[in-house]
Amino acid sequence: MSARAEKIGSLLFCPHCGTLLDFPKDSEPNVTCVECSHQEPASSYEDIEVTTRSHPDAFPSPLRQKRKTQTKAHESGDKGALVDEKCPTCGNLKAYFKELQLRSADEGATIFYTCTACQHGWRVNN
Ligand SMILES: [Zn+2]
Ligand SMILES: [Zn+2]
Repeated sequence: MSARAEKIGSLLFCPHCGTLLDFPKDSEPNVTCVECSHQEPASSYEDIEVTTRSHPDAFPSPLRQKRKTQTKAHESGDKGALVDEKCPTCGNLKAYFKELQLRSADEGATIFYTCTACQHGWRVNN
């Protein structure tokens, strides 16, 4: 059982930290939360209803405020160790390194990198 992202209109928010998730790239089956490295399946985007809602409740302000706070924390937040790793998206040579144990122990650790330039996140399985 894993938490699924919260949908607000056509946007998805991380179920763990509330960060706005990027749209999935064609080559990636998952979208990685830049804050907590949560992996949201790209399929979550497929069943999004594209509706135009002008109702103010469609975008609750606490969430919007939270996002603002998260974005600020982003600049000085703890992303892990800074390492020399080439970003597959922009070619920048510095990335933050984080090792996470996903789900069950027998799956091994997963290394997460976050580009310091474009904030692109990707992972490498050990
Ligand atoms: Zn998150
Ligand atoms: Zn990059």
